[in-house]
Amino acid sequence: SRTILFKNRPQGKPSTSDFEIIQEGQPEPGEGEILLKALYISVDPYLRGRMRDEESYIEPFKLNEPLESMVVAEVVESKNSAFSKGDHVSGMLQWKELQTAKGNGLNRVHKEIAPLSAYLGILGLTGLTAYLGLEKIGDLKAGDTLVVSGGAGAVGSIAGQIGKIKGCMVVGIAGSDEKVKYMEEDLGFDKGINYNTAGDMKKAISECCTDGVDVYFDNVGGEILDAVLANINKDARIINCGAISLYNEKEMPTGPRPEGILIKKTALMQGFLVRDHVKDFGPAFRQLSEWLEEGELVYEETIIEGFDKLPEAFIGLFEGKNIGKMVVKVQ
Ligand code: NDP
Repeated sequence: SRTILFKNRPQGKPSTSDFEIIQEGQPEPGEGEILLKALYISVDPYLRGRMRDEESYIEPFKLNEPLESMVVAEVVESKNSAFSKGDHVSGMLQWKELQTAKGNGLNRVHKEIAPLSAYLGILGLTGLTAYLGLEKIGDLKAGDTLVVSGGAGAVGSIAGQIGKIKGCMVVGIAGSDEKVKYMEEDLGFDKGINYNTAGDMKKAISECCTDGVDVYFDNVGGEILDAVLANINKDARIINCGAISLYNEKEMPTGPRPEGILIKKTALMQGFLVRDHVKDFGPAFRQLSEWLEEGELVYEETIIEGFDKLPEAFIGLFEGKNIGKMVVKVQ
C-alpha cells in the first residue's frame, strides 16, 4: 500500500519533488476500527496554504508525514458495528491507498444517488462552498449582475449556475477560450471573459457588465479582484472565497487600495470559510441534490487516474489544467 508524504515546503509553485511516495505494509484495523481503501481523492487549492509553516484556520502539514484531503473510500474490513464491508464513505483522510479509521467524522455516500466522485465536488465541500458563500454573503436578487472568477473551476462553475437559477446576469472569468466556451455553452453563463487574452480587465468587465457588478464571487483575488472592484455598483457584495492567484506568492503584492471604492459604493466585502457553516450543510446539500436531479445544475470533473498522480494533479490546479472539479481516481 502506498502513502504520499509531504517532503518540502514549496517556495513559489509546488513541484513533484515536494512529495514522496513510499510503500508500506497493509495496516490492520484494531477493535472498533475499519480498514478503508481510497477510491477518489480530492486535490484543492487551499492545500497550498497548509504547506506553509504559518498559523491559519487549519494546521500546517508536517514534513515527512502524509498529506490529507477529502477522500471517498470503500470499507474493506470492519471491526466497527456502525460500518459494513462494502460501505462507501467520505471524509478528511490521509493520502494512503489503505488506512484504518475509527469512523468518526466520516459520512456515508451512496453510488446509487450520484457517482462517488461527485461527493468530492458538487455534492461535497465544493458545492457547499458555492451555495453557502452566495447564501451567507451574496444576497442574490433576480436581475443582479453576478461575476464569478475561477468560473470554469469546481466552485465557480456551480456558483455561476446558482446565479442563473436565481435569475441573475452571470459573467464568468477564466483562463482559456475553451473555458469561456464551456461557461457560455455548457453552464449557461451569459458571458465569459478570458483573463489571459482580454488585456485591460477593468474595461473587459465593464463591457460585459453594462449595468455594473452587484455581486462578485471571488476565487482568485489579486489583479482580477482589483478590476472587478473598479466596476461595482452601490451596495455590492463581494464574497472572498479564494485567492489562488496569490497562493504561490512569497510576499503579498500590494495593489490599488479597496477602501475608497468600498466606502463610495457602501459595498460589503467579506471573507468566507465553508468550514464555519457545518450546521447549514444539511439543507444546502438537499438543495444542491434537488437541483442536480432536476437538471438545473450540471457539473464536470477532471479525473486523473493513478494514486501516484496526486502531486501532479494538485500542481495542475495552479496551471489551470482542470475544468470543473479536479479529482484523482486511485485505480
Ligand atoms: P478550481 O477548480 O477553481 O481550480 C483552480 C483554478 O484556479 C484553476 O483551474 C485555474 O483556472 C484558476 N487559477 C489558477 N491560478 C490562477 C491565477 N494565477 N489567476 C487566476 N486564476 C487562477 O478550484 P476550487 O473550485 O476547488 O477552488 C476555487 C477557489 O475557492 C480557490 O481559491 C480555493 O482556495 C477556494 N475555496 C475556498 C473555500 C472556502 O471555504 N473559503 C472552500 C473551497 C475552495 P483558470 O484556467 O481559469 O486560470
